[in-house]
Amino acid sequence: MDAIAVYDDGDDPELIDVPRPTPASGEVLVRVSRVGIDGTDHEVIAGEHGVSPDDDDYLVLGHEAVGVIEDANGTAFTEGEVVVPMVRRPPGTENEYFQRDEPDMAPAGQYHERGIVGAHGYLCEYFTSQPEYLVSVPESVAQYGFLIEPVSIAEKALEHAIASRAAFEWTPESALVLGNGSLGLLTLAMLDRRGFDRTYCLGRRDRPDPTIDIIESLGATYVDSRDTPLSRVSAAYEPMDLVFEATGHAPHAFETVEALAPNGVGALVGVPGSHQFEIDGGTLHEELVLHNKALVGTVNSGRPHFERAVETLDSLPEWLLDDLVTDVVGVDTFERAFSDDDHTIKTAVEF
Ligand code: NDP
Ligand code: ZN
Repeated sequence: MDAIAVYDDGDDPELIDVPRPTPASGEVLVRVSRVGIDGTDHEVIAGEHGVSPDDDDYLVLGHEAVGVIEDANGTAFTEGEVVVPMVRRPPGTENEYFQRDEPDMAPAGQYHERGIVGAHGYLCEYFTSQPEYLVSVPESVAQYGFLIEPVSIAEKALEHAIASRAAFEWTPESALVLGNGSLGLLTLAMLDRRGFDRTYCLGRRDRPDPTIDIIESLGATYVDSRDTPLSRVSAAYEPMDLVFEATGHAPHAFETVEALAPNGVGALVGVPGSHQFEIDGGTLHEELVLHNKALVGTVNSGRPHFERAVETLDSLPEWLLDDLVTDVVGVDTFERAFSDDDHTIKTAVEF
């Protein structure tokens, strides 16, 4: 069957032929419909992130999938049911994080991530899975079901950030998303529907730009970081109750503290590489303490976040999904799904 993989010594994704997997006892076989591509895939291809399975010198890419049960193999699933797979799997034996159903909280070394770390992904015609790592989804979200995984990332980050403010009366009104990539834009749309009165999104693009169009169609304010660096956003616009960092630009993690209102929280999801720069650590430390501010880093997502993401995706307006997903390509033109120009927001490969 067709699979799209990157070799350990390769620079680009390649179309390869691999055997169609056979489900082991207790596993199901899933026929892949669509797989979304994101910044993480680009990092894996560039060799900045990710590890191939022990026995192979290549990694089948893809962690944002939607598919259909092809062979239920005696499990509670039925053939034809639409499913979205979760990303993490136990690295061999199950550990306490998987037993507690909190794989997203497992530290490095205690998980594999399909399509990213130690296990093949979903950019192929079929994959097998234990049923507990599949989330059943309604037909109504099947077309854009590959967005459930990225939405689940935002669900978890928002849950953890909001939980950090649960010890007191917190009524947030303003929110700023850093980054106008697909994750930032999806999160902006979610905040819009969660009762934030004023939302902002920070990017570094000139108009006309499709991401700025989406930001403004959502009723949010576009902030150009070249004119208004994050450290000046609070003065130029307003102090933010919530900042959601999705650029991966390391200074943003710290400038977030300055952008926050008293009692505010910053959720950090961007994944930077090593980046050295100067900061006034004392002032940041003082800001965090004297103004009850919090920074929360989060990665990956668990079943409750996937289940919430299904509902969220179902509630997002159709125009947004149509504008956000700029290209869905077939396997024969899969390279297009990995293009990284300013017109591309979110792409998917269709099998
Ligand atoms: P993208 O690369 O598509 O988006 C990042 C966006 O940030 C781009 O639009 C980029 O603008 C913008 N940006 C970068 N630097 C700046 C800056 N200095 N000022 C303003 N805008 C800036 O990535 P995704 O949306 O897919 O993901 C966002 C981040 O989240 C990535 O770092 C990714 O690795 C991470 N991630 C984390 C996960 C987790 O579990 N924690 C899961 C998934 C992703 P431009 O395009 O104009 O360059
Ligand atoms: Zn992703």
